[in-house]
Amino acid sequence: MVLGGGAAGLYCGARLAEHGLSVLVLDHARRPAEKVRISGGGRCNFTNIHTSAANFVSQNPHFAKSALARYSPWDFCDRVAKRGLTWHEKTLGQLFCDQKSGAIIDMLVEDFTKPGGELRLETSIGEIDHRDGRFHVGTSNGPVTADRLVVATGGLSIPKMGASGLAYDIARKFGHDIEPTRPALVPFMFSGDLKDAFSDLSGVSCMVDAKAGTGPDFHEAMLFTHRGLSGPAMLQASTYWRESQPVEIDLAPGAPLLDNLNEARKAKPRMTLTSWLGTRFPARLAQFVASWPGLPGDKQIGQLSNAEMDALTTALKNWKVTPVGTEGWRTAEVTAGGIDTGGLSSQTMESKHLPGLYFIGECVDVTGWLGGYNFQWAWASAVACAAAITNR
Ligand SMILES: Cc1cc2nc3c(=O)[nH]c(=O)nc-3n(C[C@H](O)[C@H](O)[C@H](O)COP(=O)(O)OP(=O)(O)OC[C@H]3O[C@@H](n4cnc5c(N)ncnc54)[C@H](O)[C@@H]3O)c2cc1C
Repeated sequence: MVLGGGAAGLYCGARLAEHGLSVLVLDHARRPAEKVRISGGGRCNFTNIHTSAANFVSQNPHFAKSALARYSPWDFCDRVAKRGLTWHEKTLGQLFCDQKSGAIIDMLVEDFTKPGGELRLETSIGEIDHRDGRFHVGTSNGPVTADRLVVATGGLSIPKMGASGLAYDIARKFGHDIEPTRPALVPFMFSGDLKDAFSDLSGVSCMVDAKAGTGPDFHEAMLFTHRGLSGPAMLQASTYWRESQPVEIDLAPGAPLLDNLNEARKAKPRMTLTSWLGTRFPARLAQFVASWPGLPGDKQIGQLSNAEMDALTTALKNWKVTPVGTEGWRTAEVTAGGIDTGGLSSQTMESKHLPGLYFIGECVDVTGWLGGYNFQWAWASAVACAAAITNR
């Protein structure tokens, strides 16, 4: 029995059914894999060709290695290609479906149901027990039993879509620890003057290097919004961010700023600093930066002192802003934290506390970066689990 008919649950169920097992997938939603439908702006960014364990956040950074090594992005591409679907690389190794995400869902559902898998939707899950060597699950459609239970009910992000903490409740019940959960791949919110300023800049975007906490620098686009900061760079940083920490932003990544400014000083000494900033940034952003305390925005660049030029480069390369929070579960693409990997086998995803119980996909404390990594983890953990159950 598989709880959760999302990406991981259906993919695991399909592999089990394909091997002749009798498999039931239960889901409380009206339609399966709704997150696949809305993913990648409707084109499902289904994997990333650069996937390695380094693209995931977990208390145990080694945990994902085994499953990821045994099921690569190209393995999933093979499956998609056999289905007659095509894809393109958008950026940074991110593979998007040329067809709509619904085509991936149809593939997942058919792969599961054609070999005989049964998908029961709109089914609420109640009490779960393990006795006499079997799992007993109370559901809104009556009790069900199975000798193996795969939990694939995902994380807490987007409750409106049916996200629930069921996987964590089941894990706790059978003795597992939970790594504290937090919304990840989520926009930042600000208050006061910064919120007002960002709201005025809403819609403006620029390339930055961004970093939070112990995370790496992400060289991606940042977007100003009515509530704060978003765009891929901020979503990536959010996974590493903790409350009251600043986000460190380089607004001029890779640019030899002082050299550029000195060249401009020679060529156009009467140009104002605001105008020079306007050669690098959208006009509204240039005006915002020029208004920062300590920067002489309306001064001619030919008259800038060395100290003023240093202040400018430091301000642009080391801009630190402290969000008041994130947009939370309402918009977070994933859940960081989750079922502690210490209680699971990295080879099979099986519980070390109760043989026959498995956890796969987003509910496990393995959180991918933005860009197809989370689906790759869903497929790879599903395959590791199914391989163990079918003894392959
Ligand atoms: C807006 C958005 C865009 C995204 N885009 C991408 C992308 O392009 N690329 C990428 O790699 N990742 C993307 N993600 C993340 C990706 O969708 C998830 O990491 C992935 O779906 C996790 O798969 P899963 O099977 O573990 O969980 P889910 O896909 O969330 O599936 C869990 C299933 O369990 C069911 N369920 C939950 N609770 C219960 C319960 N109590 N009873 C019964 N059933 C229950 C749900 O209805 C759901 O069908 C995106 C996420 C969001 C929210």
